Amino acid sequence: MSANTIFPKLEIPDTLAAGPGPGNTDQRVLDSFINAGMADHMQGDVLRGMIESKFMLRTLFGTQNTHTFGVGGSGFSGLDCMFSAVMPGDTVVAFTNGTFSGIDVMTLQMKASTTTELATNAASPKAASVTVITIPHGQSVTGEMVDAALAEHKPKWAFMAHWETGSGRINDIRGFSDACLEHGAMGLVDAVSSLGVANFSIDDYAGVDGWASCPQKGVLCLPMTYAPVSFSDRYIASLKETGCYTYVHHPILEARHWGIIDGKDVDKGTYHRTHSGYAIAAFHEALRITLQEGLAQRAKNYAFHEHALSAAVTAMGCEVTSNMTSLVVLNLPANLAGREMELVQACRAKGFGIWPTLSSPVQVRIGILNQLSRAAITEIITRYAEAMNDMGAGLDMATVTTQLDAYYSQQIAAE
Ligand SMILES: *Cc1c(COP(=O)(O)O)cnc(C)c1O
Repeated sequence: MSANTIFPKLEIPDTLAAGPGPGNTDQRVLDSFINAGMADHMQGDVLRGMIESKFMLRTLFGTQNTHTFGVGGSGFSGLDCMFSAVMPGDTVVAFTNGTFSGIDVMTLQMKASTTTELATNAASPKAASVTVITIPHGQSVTGEMVDAALAEHKPKWAFMAHWETGSGRINDIRGFSDACLEHGAMGLVDAVSSLGVANFSIDDYAGVDGWASCPQKGVLCLPMTYAPVSFSDRYIASLKETGCYTYVHHPILEARHWGIIDGKDVDKGTYHRTHSGYAIAAFHEALRITLQEGLAQRAKNYAFHEHALSAAVTAMGCEVTSNMTSLVVLNLPANLAGREMELVQACRAKGFGIWPTLSSPVQVRIGILNQLSRAAITEIITRYAEAMNDMGAGLDMATVTTQLDAYYSQQIAAE
């Protein structure tokens, strides 16, 4: 292999995406992406698509926040935009209970560090103004924990992940919001895994001033299209006072291309950076799918199918430690304990894309993003049981499928 090798055309196989994300992109989204015409970022229909997406995004978030739009990129791009208002020396209390809130804490440390703190440890600075509260993997952040920490530290900013995908735990967003209000902190929330899966309206959480999500989990869009964000007027006012150190992810400047100028909706966006007509078409369709289905119905479907998966793996002797409805995080039965990584790798080698946890302890993560049908769940469970049997679990496949059939028939009969 040399520097000027031209490699064969890259072929990527279709896999069963049954991890924490990216989820199984909806066919309607893929069709919209490839069927969009060639058009530049200032073409009328592309700009109209952005304005329409902005309004649909407000409905999805359940908000009147004018500063609600998509940040080009992945979930962390939206999070970076949200964290951009955090300035060196700002006081922050941040909660972490898994991989992703852990990375968010790292971002906050970078933003809040003084130049000296940054130079002391450039890749992983520790800011004296940031207090990190670490909750053990597998546990949720509770309102009491947030209340106690905010009462003690009285920070300008508080941060928490709504659903921590690393450990599969739902954190107490009501308690977080109430504590922020009580102690005068501005709440920032990583809603990457919850938006489009849980039925909630952000305007019900007055203590939270910034929300950031992603395209490829509950929103069912392609990865690397648009990460939804929403900011309260209070957040924007604070940003106007302090400014921030970014052009591309500046929440006020980036909003201009989505037709949000001087805090008001205008008919047409103005240039901030180049947008892709393909990405806009895909994002627009993903939002239409969710709103047509309705968030309440979607949330119900997730709970229903997650229960089937969770009950099945429990019957196989696994211990479920998660409570998210799009993801099951589990420990293997005692006779297979310690072989989680081996199991996951064997599944992935066969195009069955489940995941390990990325921080310790090593657990298995099986997700159901956009796999909301009896057939899809049955395939996931069957393939998982086969993988366990390949490692010598000795499960009776007939029992597994009989129980699953009973669950689905019973539920359908009850409806
Ligand atoms: C997936 C995830 C992220 C990161 O999103 P990317 O699209 O990979 O950038 C951040 N936070 C949470 C809670 C996540 O689940």
